[in-house]
Amino acid sequence: MQQFLKRKFIKSSLLLPFFMLGACKIGFNKITSTNFFSQNKMSNHYPFQLPQLPYAKNALAPYISENTINYHYGKHHQAYITNLNNLIANTELATKTLEEIIKISASDKTKTAIFNNAAQVWNHTFYWHSIMPNGGGKPSTDLLKKIELDFGSYENFIAEFKNAAATQFGSGWAWLVLEENKLKIIKTGNAETPLTTNAKPLLTIDVWEHAYYLDFQNARPNYIDTFLNHLINWNFAYQNFKN
Ligand code: FE
Repeated sequence: MQQFLKRKFIKSSLLLPFFMLGACKIGFNKITSTNFFSQNKMSNHYPFQLPQLPYAKNALAPYISENTINYHYGKHHQAYITNLNNLIANTELATKTLEEIIKISASDKTKTAIFNNAAQVWNHTFYWHSIMPNGGGKPSTDLLKKIELDFGSYENFIAEFKNAAATQFGSGWAWLVLEENKLKIIKTGNAETPLTTNAKPLLTIDVWEHAYYLDFQNARPNYIDTFLNHLINWNFAYQNFKN
């Protein structure tokens, strides 16, 4: 028995580096606005599954608590996935990618529920990558220069981003996008997403109350400050900018 356990331990030890290599490979994949489903080996067809978070559920604490993640990711994001699957089962949309479903349903008034759930699946996946543990600070040189060029200064960018996120009335999103080679800040209501426009999203902040209420109650500006100072994932924005 002891010999068996010893052999099993040696076998496990030999395999460990391969598992670690696999995990690193997934972790370092370039995840961008247009390919994060395929790059992360996430299913991009029906039946959709809740994509893995790129960090542990408690990794954003104390800024975003594990409790918020349990609800926001585990309940809200999951609900959009479940609803979407129920709505497109046995329809022609079941063979389409998420991005295709969003574009088709956006222009069809009979498919509003499908659009809302599909876009929220996409927006939330994009949001989880827009933040990271030990995020915040300024972007890398290329992107910083472009921000200074298009907004006048980094400080102007911050002021405009904060204003958009704070003044989005009710539920929605604020985005940094690239449109006609110019960086812009836009805000969208409810499930609306830049994916249905010519603007390419670089990063987003979710300003639905479910994103911040457990940690910040009604103080949306504090959540926005925390996002910018401690959570924003400039690497993700930069990868989207370069691709
Ligand atoms: Fe949300």
